[in-house]
Amino acid sequence: MTIDLILVGGRVRTLDPATPSATALAVADGRLAYVGDDAGATALREGATEVIDLKGAAVTPGLVDSHIHPFMGRLFQGGIDLMDARTLDDVRAQVAAAARGCRPGEWLTGFGLDYNMFAETGIHGSLLAEAAGEVPTMINFVDMHTAIATPRAMALAGVDGPRTFDEHAEVVCEDGVPTGQLREQAAVRLVTGAMPPMTAAQVYEKAVEVFERLNAVGVTGVHSMDGDLPRLDLLRELEANGDLKVRVTTPFWLKPETTRDEWEAYAAAGGERGVRWRGGVAKFFIDGVIDSGTGWLFTPDSEGGGLEPFWPDPGLYREAVAYMTAAGLQCVTHCCGDRAVREALDAYREAGRPPGLKHRIEHIETIQAEDIPRFAAEGVIASMQAQHMMWLEPDQTDNFTERLGPDRCSRAFMTRSLLESGAELTLGSDWPVARLDPREGMAAARLRRVPGMPEREPFDDEGISALDALLGYTAWPVRTRGESAEGGSIEVGKRADLAAFAVDPVECDADALIEDEVLLTVVEGEIVHRSID
Ligand SMILES: [Zn+2]
Repeated sequence: MTIDLILVGGRVRTLDPATPSATALAVADGRLAYVGDDAGATALREGATEVIDLKGAAVTPGLVDSHIHPFMGRLFQGGIDLMDARTLDDVRAQVAAAARGCRPGEWLTGFGLDYNMFAETGIHGSLLAEAAGEVPTMINFVDMHTAIATPRAMALAGVDGPRTFDEHAEVVCEDGVPTGQLREQAAVRLVTGAMPPMTAAQVYEKAVEVFERLNAVGVTGVHSMDGDLPRLDLLRELEANGDLKVRVTTPFWLKPETTRDEWEAYAAAGGERGVRWRGGVAKFFIDGVIDSGTGWLFTPDSEGGGLEPFWPDPGLYREAVAYMTAAGLQCVTHCCGDRAVREALDAYREAGRPPGLKHRIEHIETIQAEDIPRFAAEGVIASMQAQHMMWLEPDQTDNFTERLGPDRCSRAFMTRSLLESGAELTLGSDWPVARLDPREGMAAARLRRVPGMPEREPFDDEGISALDALLGYTAWPVRTRGESAEGGSIEVGKRADLAAFAVDPVECDADALIEDEVLLTVVEGEIVHRSID
């Protein structure tokens, strides 16, 4: 055994109840070889051992994001991030700057647009035409369910009038002329289909870029929420080249149109894995989102929406869940509406569980009271994203709360209630739908409002403790994959996946957490981010 790395002088929050704190640790061959005091760690030092003095910094297990889309392609990774733009002029300035950097023939994409910016003007692609100039431009709204395309982009894509779709989608038109607003993915694809595809090298490069961003905020693992068979090849290639700096769980995404042959191929490939990546997950959507009326509800929302599931035949969804479960895959279903949650719980109960694993439900943006205890009783994991609710208005005047109404809003994003019911919880960002920084995710889970804005009222009292927020990004995601013996805490023999912060995230004030400097990130003993000497 060679000791590769020793950390001393720290405040180690191990999350191991037997030894909750330590000041030092040692790493050999990617595993923790020692956890204890400085003298004990230093005694293990060998010639080539790297020793880092943490000077009082806090160490936790590496952070894991349980719901993220790190590979979703050009729309996000090639695009400009408009999450911080607050006005249309901000957007125009960013579009103009990015357009100036585009090569001839290149398209400009972006994500993170706020609907409220268009309250006065309506959503018209022409609003961005001047800023984009000659560069065909399409930008996604923050929920990724609507996009805005410039007239030039629409012309190049040949979209010159209304279209009909098999699923709920719309090319929004005025007097038969498209406005540039594209509702839902089938409409968006009319335009993305006209863009030159990303080369394999670009896809690879973007993945590496996202891993760097993740490492910089303490992330050592992700549960990717979209994937297919070629994704396994990309992960293999990244790992072979030493570029897989984040542990990745990757699913196969089953859609209503996924063929039986594909089901079989996915089942056969379920056990494939590398050192830092693994498959074994089947991902489903059973509904859309509350904001656009595509979340599946028991009774209609205020606009009459919410009555359609994403799978036109929910029976086929149940069959697919049962098939994948029998093949040993963990099922993960996107469920925003209460009807969607019920449907997934029923499908999981019918299908049973794969050995050693529990199925998961993602989002749970509203739920019927009688379904809350079913998570614990039936062994289903609640996967929640606190950043999605942090902008909700406590007076229920935003689009989401207005659509749901007060009764369903009283059971919105019930993180604490689910936890107290005994449900296993896990937390994530859903990036690029929210920022990929788990410090913001932990703070939002504690505060139930936007961190850093103490003047805002919390949405409700469903906030969780600082320790639970940290567990939601460390031990619980690892448990979700049935890997608690391997990681999720700082214990001898476990993986050396670590993060170091200026201030212990459990002791840090929630509003200050976003500023808590990430000093060191370690994956399997490898330093992947470092801002401490
Ligand atoms: Zn997602």
